[in-house]
Amino acid sequence: MSALCLENVSHNFGALSAVNNVNLSIDAGEFVCLLGPSGCGKTTILRLAAGLERLQSGKITMDEAIVANDKADLPPEKRSVGLVFQDYALFPHLDVSKNIEFGLKHLSAPERKERVRETLAQVGMADYLHSYPHTLSGGQQQRVALARAIAPRPKLVLLDEPFSGLDVRLRNQVREETLRVLKENNIATLMVTHDPEEAMFMGDRVAIMNKGQIVQFAPPNELYTNPANAFVAHFFGEVNEFKGVCNDGHVVTPFGALEVPNMSHGTVVDVLVRHEGIVIGEKVNGTGVEASVLKSRMLGKSNLVDFKISNSLSNDLYVKARLDNHAVPLAGNDCVLELDKRLTFVFSSQQSKQNT
Ligand code: ATP
Repeated sequence: MSALCLENVSHNFGALSAVNNVNLSIDAGEFVCLLGPSGCGKTTILRLAAGLERLQSGKITMDEAIVANDKADLPPEKRSVGLVFQDYALFPHLDVSKNIEFGLKHLSAPERKERVRETLAQVGMADYLHSYPHTLSGGQQQRVALARAIAPRPKLVLLDEPFSGLDVRLRNQVREETLRVLKENNIATLMVTHDPEEAMFMGDRVAIMNKGQIVQFAPPNELYTNPANAFVAHFFGEVNEFKGVCNDGHVVTPFGALEVPNMSHGTVVDVLVRHEGIVIGEKVNGTGVEASVLKSRMLGKSNLVDFKISNSLSNDLYVKARLDNHAVPLAGNDCVLELDKRLTFVFSSQQSKQNT
């Protein structure tokens, strides 16, 4: 059963098409990220799901029950949805317990008290019952905002860039805690983010959006290894890019010929290779290409290395590779590079232009 399902949802602001025929379904207990560049329509989808924006076209169901279509449009308080915004939106004049009790008016006073205690314990804020929001750190406010959202035990929580106000170290910690609490409570989540790493870290599945549309909806691993188009390949991970022309089922690249069986002769293509898709090889049977090492940077578990390939088909070609720390060649040295075909993608250039 889908915790949330959007069918053919479109939304305009005047002449602007902010959301264009979106279909999206989130399973019970699933964590889905909505990822895309600024202005692509992520927040509008969240607001439509929450009932904060009136549905213009399409249908929204929660647990198979219609919450909005051309006849009905339930207000936010009738949708059993928890909301957490970027700025936490806690009531400044209420203490932590009253902030959380706000959504629990349907419970008796003792039940409310118990629910507040239990939920604050889950987010590690049991000792802050009577603190006011302005006395709490950003991370603590975020935890209280999450507690307020989940206290009524909704089936669905909507998060709009909830970690963007936190510094990097705290952000990682709060992300982990948020994920744990939502999973422990089996709450389905739709989170808006423009940060691919955050989406990779948190999402069971990620919906990548561009210009009001969902361009691919898949688990992070699939988006990374099998992007639907060049936009997804660029947005979800880093790539090297070079042009080629399809010739009799092959495209000739500086790294040798790649098979492109489904492309017609003469198609101009973009070849995209993940930084991890360029590996150090040995020049066996003429595959691979010689390259000189320009610079390497240690980035924790791996190095990012810049190479220059001089015997390229036209101009010099510059590529980046992510290499294991033990495999990094010294700057100034030459080595042979090969492509890992699993991390190499070929798209028609014309198609790519339409997608961006
Ligand atoms: P960001 O990551 O910057 O928050 P987003 O992907 O969440 O962007 P939306 O906020 O959904 O994008 O906006 C989508 C488009 O609709 C943008 O062009 C935005 O300017 C426009 N828009 C959003 N809300 C309104 C509104 N109330 N009135 C007019 N235009 C709006």
